[in-house]
Amino acid sequence: LSDRLQSTIKKITGKGKVSEQDVKEMTREVRLALLEADVNFKVVKDLIKRIKERAVGQEVMESLTPGQQVIKVVKEELTDLMGGEQSKIAVADKSPTVIMMVGLQGAGKTTTTGKLANLLRKKHNRNPLLVACDVYRPAAIKQLETLGTQLNMPVFSMGTDANPVDIAGKAIEQAKEEHNDYVIIDTAGRLHVDHELMNELQQIKTTVRPDEIFLVVDAMTGQDAVNVAESFNEQLDISGVVLTKLDGDTRGGAALSIKAVTDKPIKFAGMGEKLDQLEAFHPERMASRILGMGDVLTLIEKAQTTVDEKQAKALEEKMRSMSFTFDDFLEQMGQVKKMGPLEDLLSMMPGAGKMKGLKNAQIDESQLTKVEAIIQSMTKKERQEPEIMNASRKKRIAKGSGTTVSQVNRLLKQFSEMKKMMKQMTNMQKGKKGKGMKF
Ligand code: GDP
Ligand code: MG
Repeated sequence: LSDRLQSTIKKITGKGKVSEQDVKEMTREVRLALLEADVNFKVVKDLIKRIKERAVGQEVMESLTPGQQVIKVVKEELTDLMGGEQSKIAVADKSPTVIMMVGLQGAGKTTTTGKLANLLRKKHNRNPLLVACDVYRPAAIKQLETLGTQLNMPVFSMGTDANPVDIAGKAIEQAKEEHNDYVIIDTAGRLHVDHELMNELQQIKTTVRPDEIFLVVDAMTGQDAVNVAESFNEQLDISGVVLTKLDGDTRGGAALSIKAVTDKPIKFAGMGEKLDQLEAFHPERMASRILGMGDVLTLIEKAQTTVDEKQAKALEEKMRSMSFTFDDFLEQMGQVKKMGPLEDLLSMMPGAGKMKGLKNAQIDESQLTKVEAIIQSMTKKERQEPEIMNASRKKRIAKGSGTTVSQVNRLLKQFSEMKKMMKQMTNMQKGKKGKGMKF
């Protein structure tokens, strides 16, 4: 959420009913936030209209401020727009199932081909054949072959002189002989949509009759992605979209527009260059991301399932009363480790992007051990009341833990920031328990 939107929310806090004026103010900011996030303006217009209709005159839920209430409506509408979660991949009646990857150059087709193959084998115990149909650049075939080697999977190629349509046809024959149950065809892209490219893709489609045509779209390209999706869908009638590079700092508004414009589901999200960085696309998370709220709900849920209920309650009490100490912190670190990589957790927190100190190097896993050492070098009193920390205490702790005074300082600072953040989170969690707050 943009800072301005935040402050608008604050302004209309504490009212009993959402007034027309509130909604007007809110939707103006929401509109800007969405446009900023690259959501197509037509989509925004329709959305704002629906939001206004829904939000005005609503009773405000006990646990929400009117501002939050409007945002809740916005988020629900956004989630709806993107459809439910649909990460299924077709299974053909007769093996092999054929998946065709299409998209512009650099979108991530080849990488995603490898990722999908990896997923199919790991999750569904399938045995895919990868097919190199991008004959226009020798490097493209090589790239797929390298992926095949990494994955220890067969790659079908006929070099750069063969016709992509023939290659695709022959690949299917080989898959039948070799009992590959999936065939993933990596096709060529262009810098722009052009007739020749579409023609070739249509021919491949006619020849192999794919069960899925996945359009791979680079989320970083914003509004362009929407136009690209529209023309590929018109020409090829795609079955789903894979949105790549969502690990970048794009707001991802394109996701919303793509679904609205093509009415095809976004099935997967590429979250990095590595082969295991492909995830099912979660519309709700995307809605949060577009609104810039961080993935609070997921974070809280994650924390709830991992942290022992009773312990969590005691902890919650402590956080709220701000009596959370380094001893609790130490105990918590065990729990936190169970929740998964800290980086993932942090990236889900609202505003985490702004907290440089937390986000950067200081908090990776290896640092946890250091943090533990620092806390263990503190006296009982220091752990309970970090305020008493002075230069000589810090020096002693640094020496005892094999760290430096500046590392000790950093931990102290992070600890106090974390306390503040935890307090905010606890409040949100409280709200959620109240009455169906959903973000
Ligand atoms: P193609 O031309 O469509 O086949 O695209 P490639 O698969 O060759 O990918 C182009 C570039 O984008 C490569 O450097 C990939 O490593 C990178 N890439 C692909 N998917 C992702 C992703 O989800 N996240 C990030 N950060 N990079 C990606
Ligand atoms: Mg490629």
